[in-house]
Amino acid sequence: MALVQAFLNTRFNLMADDHGETFTDPEALVVWLASRGLVDERPDLTEADLVRAIAIREGLRALAFANNGRPLAAQTVTQMRRASSGLQVEVRLESDGPEFLAGDAYGVEPALGLLIAVAARAKVEGTWQRLKACPGRNCGWVFFDHSRNGSSRWCSMKVCGDREKSRALYWRRAERRG
Ligand SMILES: [Zn+2]
Repeated sequence: MALVQAFLNTRFNLMADDHGETFTDPEALVVWLASRGLVDERPDLTEADLVRAIAIREGLRALAFANNGRPLAAQTVTQMRRASSGLQVEVRLESDGPEFLAGDAYGVEPALGLLIAVAARAKVEGTWQRLKACPGRNCGWVFFDHSRNGSSRWCSMKVCGDREKSRALYWRRAERRG
């Protein structure tokens, strides 16, 4: 799941000054996929591959927001279905048991199929709903909820939680004054 979490957080390039999009072009996507061992060779990806990868990522992020209580828009569900339609994953019996593989196929599809398969496995294991997107203003960071009862809402109480708490306090005080 750390892999899926890392994929979802490519929305924020922490190395860039503006913490903007990591996948700014197909080459940036290839570099990331290669760094995670999701592609063997460096495939020549197209703009269409980039668009699809981002659509898959945003679909998974919408699900991570849903895991944190934000309802899914019907349009988002349609987009998610369209983007993920036809993706496949290879399964193999390896020495340490059955495994999902990114496969030897060339291109972005096996990598995207593997990422979704890992998320599906987490759902079977009961850990998927713990992958949550933070609802903090200007946040959206995806985190794994390690709390005992799965009730964490913010990426980090120190940053977003405190910020939201102090904002709620501010408004309560403002209302009292008003
Ligand atoms: Zn946050």
